[in-house]
Amino acid sequence: MGRRFLPLVRRRRHGAAISRPGAPSTSPSTSALHTAAGPRPRPPRRPQELLHLVWRRKLGLDGHPTPRRAWLFICWPARLGARINARIDTALEAERADQRPRDYLGASRIGEPCARRLVYEVAHTPPDPGKEIGGRAPRIFAAGHVFEDLAIRWLRRAGFDLRTQTRDGGQFGFETAGGRIRGHVDGVIVAGPDVGLTWPVQWEHKALKATSWSDTTRKGVQLSKPIYYGQMQIYMAYMGLGSALFTALNKDTCELYHEHVAFNPPTAQALSDKAVDVLRAADAGELLPRIATSPDFYLCRFCPFATRCWEDRA
Ligand code: SF4
Repeated sequence: MGRRFLPLVRRRRHGAAISRPGAPSTSPSTSALHTAAGPRPRPPRRPQELLHLVWRRKLGLDGHPTPRRAWLFICWPARLGARINARIDTALEAERADQRPRDYLGASRIGEPCARRLVYEVAHTPPDPGKEIGGRAPRIFAAGHVFEDLAIRWLRRAGFDLRTQTRDGGQFGFETAGGRIRGHVDGVIVAGPDVGLTWPVQWEHKALKATSWSDTTRKGVQLSKPIYYGQMQIYMAYMGLGSALFTALNKDTCELYHEHVAFNPPTAQALSDKAVDVLRAADAGELLPRIATSPDFYLCRFCPFATRCWEDRA
């Protein structure tokens, strides 16, 4: 694309066209011939030429040779990427807007350490300006499903009887508190090779970026990913399962980490009580205490309700 544009610029700068390799040379006598015969009719502009002129006008470069930096600006792949990604994000955001918002507290969120944040979420409080969910989050979520399908296939090929659907094609899950607390598990392994586990176990899968995956392998899921740990405890409690298998896939390397998680009744009970408190507060239009005493706390720095939360000093 750049090569095609270059002669246009040089023609202006030097007052003469630059001949292309293999094209007939523009000798002085030939030029004189053209002058005598009058100007050659200009061929119709190609779409790329028109685009080029539009960009020159936008950049205020009409009548000036295009500086090298401006060419980089026009042709830089990141600009193209930004335009395409903006389209994708808009489409995904429109798709999400069509979905009915959750009218329940999902088990996947109960392990969130800040109960106040959960109240904001359950009450559908708008996030702070600029902290809205963009198109990237749905892409990450969708990619997670693809990785999960792969892990399911691999486990089944290895002989694990991993069930992901009930007999009538629904998801395994539970609901309580009149349907206001709900969850759906990734699967239940009902039988498999002798790997030291007693079947059945609840199966939970997460696809993690490399740093997050390494942290999980070092510290274990309870310390590294308390939200996922809480999610499994709630599932085990309401589905009557004694243990879970947590599988984490490294999205960069496709390495797999598996951890056996035992049911911990006091933890599950505390999480269940917290969920009820959150629903009560949301119904009453109240907020629960903050998790920190300063907005500098690491969880607050990443919270989409931080401005509202700390301005609202109730
Ligand atoms: S800003 Fe901090 S205290 Fe407030 S809701 Fe978010 S995480 Fe909780």
